[in-house]
Amino acid sequence: MRALSFAVALALIAAAHGGAVPPQGQQGAKAPKQGQTAKQVHDPVCGMAIDPAKAAGKSEYKGATYFFCSAQCKRTFDADPEAVLRKAAQKK
Ligand SMILES: [Zn+2]
Repeated sequence: MRALSFAVALALIAAAHGGAVPPQGQQGAKAPKQGQTAKQVHDPVCGMAIDPAKAAGKSEYKGATYFFCSAQCKRTFDADPEAVLRKAAQKK
């Protein structure tokens, strides 16, 4: 079950990054790389950019707050925060 939703998340990320169709209503108004609003954060589990106000969940770990796109991502993080953060660091 986790594998399935992870695949969906990957597909969404791929669509967001590789999609040839620009988001409607924002043509050229902002540079894609530096134009992100400061309010957006990344889900450390799946890497999805999310708005903290709309996050499905959040966890505090070692003084930092992490936001999640879904309850499932939060559960994954809570189960083993170290592993999730280690993986996130390796992606870069
Ligand atoms: Zn997520």
